[in-house]
Amino acid sequence: NKQVILKRYVSGFPSKDDFELKTSAIKSKVPEGSNEVLLQNLYLSVDPYMRLRMRKIVDGGDYFASFVPGSVISGGGVARVLDSGDPNFKKGDLVRGMTRWEEYTLITAPETLFKIEHTDVPLSYNTGILSAVGLTAYIGLFEICSPKKGEYIFVSAACGAVGHLVGQFAKLAGCYVVGSAGSKEKVDLLKNKFGFDEAFNYKEEEDVDAALKRYFPEGIDIYFENVGGKMLDAVLLNMRFHGRISVCGMISQYNTDRPEGPNNLMPLVYKRIRMEGFMVSDYYKIYPKYFDWVLPYIREGKIAYMEDIAEGLESCPHALVGLFSGRNIGKQVIRVAQG
Ligand code: NDP
Repeated sequence: NKQVILKRYVSGFPSKDDFELKTSAIKSKVPEGSNEVLLQNLYLSVDPYMRLRMRKIVDGGDYFASFVPGSVISGGGVARVLDSGDPNFKKGDLVRGMTRWEEYTLITAPETLFKIEHTDVPLSYNTGILSAVGLTAYIGLFEICSPKKGEYIFVSAACGAVGHLVGQFAKLAGCYVVGSAGSKEKVDLLKNKFGFDEAFNYKEEEDVDAALKRYFPEGIDIYFENVGGKMLDAVLLNMRFHGRISVCGMISQYNTDRPEGPNNLMPLVYKRIRMEGFMVSDYYKIYPKYFDWVLPYIREGKIAYMEDIAEGLESCPHALVGLFSGRNIGKQVIRVAQG
């Protein structure tokens, strides 16, 4: 059983050397009398929050509890049930939810494991658009910000897993959408494949405030926040009165204990802006409603969902590090075995 282990707690930018590959014996059955489930992992999800779990001291409570150095990394994925002592799962079931970065996982009390019911769409989608990633885009946009037709929306990290869905969901709601991303290739994709009205490369803008004024001469109604720091500072200067900000994440802060900005929150006051953070894990009961909404769009080809699939368990560390240099385009996934 090949496994990816966290070697040590990490401070600063993560590197491949913070992980090591190990091999352990494979269990072929669930032990007699146990309620565990034995999984063969097929696809693994690589997500920014995993970096927060590589720190020793964390400020996010249990959700961001640290990984334990020397242990296998845990994370989301798609798997096949090989054996089950849990009456809710049987051999052959396809499941999505929390698993580990290894080929085979024996997992106890899998409360966070869901049976996959929609088998007419690619299995890997259950690490992204049909999992917490898609639900995050949906909740952050619709539940937190209630977009109205014709409103002006800005999305940062727009060509990533969550971002490219937020932009497309907002277009379906009849909004005007602008995204920022870190390369020309991503900007082209946003405009030509994902249907954003405009997009810009934030790395090439000396003055993001000025760029936002160019793209939003009348201001921003809704900001979907993935980045934090200087980007948030610039956005606050460009929000409209009664604007809404959905605080999904702040990836620019995950590799530092001393985040920069925002420096000036005063626009929240005089512009009567509502800024609200959320954790997708509080909204899992919305999955059925979300699936009913999103599946027809997927089946009719009305959403262009993009995956960045790397092969083999050994690609996991490189892929995770790549999230912080913007190497991924769309949802970063690892194929561990054929579905
Ligand atoms: P992405 O697929 O968007 O990958 C991360 C992207 O962030 C990179 O590709 C890169 O794109 C951009 N990025 C990395 N570092 C920086 C930086 N310093 N400044 C600006 N941009 C940067 O990841 P996800 O879609 O999975 O996650 C997006 C956000 O949503 C994250 O903040 C994540 O933590 C959050 N999240 C929150 C959830 C919740 O429940 N609240 C649930 C899931 C995700 P680029 O080339 O544009 O720089």
